Amino acid sequence: MKIDIVTIFPDFFRGPLDHGIIRRAREAGLAAIEIHDLRAFAHDRHKTVDDRPFGGGEGMVLKPEPIFESIEALNVEAREGRAAASQSVVLLSAQGKRFDQSVANELAGLERIVLICGRYEGVDERVGQYLADRELSIGDYVLSGGELGAAVIVDCVTRLIPGAVGNQASTQQESFTTFSEAQTGSGPSSTCTSGGLLDYPHYTRPADFRGMGVPEVLASGNHEEIRRWRRRAALEKTLRNRPDLLERAAFSDEDRKLLGEPDRG
Ligand code: SAM
Repeated sequence: MKIDIVTIFPDFFRGPLDHGIIRRAREAGLAAIEIHDLRAFAHDRHKTVDDRPFGGGEGMVLKPEPIFESIEALNVEAREGRAAASQSVVLLSAQGKRFDQSVANELAGLERIVLICGRYEGVDERVGQYLADRELSIGDYVLSGGELGAAVIVDCVTRLIPGAVGNQASTQQESFTTFSEAQTGSGPSSTCTSGGLLDYPHYTRPADFRGMGVPEVLASGNHEEIRRWRRRAALEKTLRNRPDLLERAAFSDEDRKLLGEPDRG
């Protein structure tokens, strides 16, 4: 997969893209990530990329010309043919559609994504209307720039590229991954896919840490019992922390039963 990031702060990405899974995916040739300085597409000696807003108001707005020229220089497919070419040009924006695990899965299936990072009061609206094919927000809050959002998207998407994570089954069994997105049959029988809910709790050694124990069932060796405990714990945690996820989730008869069962951990 090829990922291009257009930004006025290219150095911002030195840290986030140079560690862990992203670094390994880059080194293995699974993801080619390139950072492009928007100011290289400015035409005056001050490298101006912003201007005052039409209609008045606070702050400055990123101008359309350097952004359009930067994307044209990348030889991305025209907007109409982009989906067929397995490409997407994304504008990071607080006003965009919410980026979530299912959008991450969709982007991970593409051959190329380009991320445009806004700054100041935002980006000239014509970029979203005529150049980008989608606007994405990483959450309901306002960041000072699109760079953190782009780093979040690159991280989520890269780890979903087949081969990026050592054990691919682990990306199938995480929070927010629906049953249809997860490849069935992956992982041992004691694990379970979240089915769009939160992941189940994880524990490791020591079994007794400062008097804080680990649920006994996890050491029982009974895979079916462990799977059932994990599923119930995931359901309970989702109910506690993210009840909104339960509204969209498909419940099995077993789920309903598990929620009613006493805790034997
Ligand atoms: N005036 C804009 C608004 O109220 O929606 C906020 C502009 S923000 C200060 C500057 C840039 O940060 C945006 O153009 C966008 O690229 C990025 N940004 C801010 N919040 C974001 C979010 N939640 N998700 C993705 N990008 C965001």
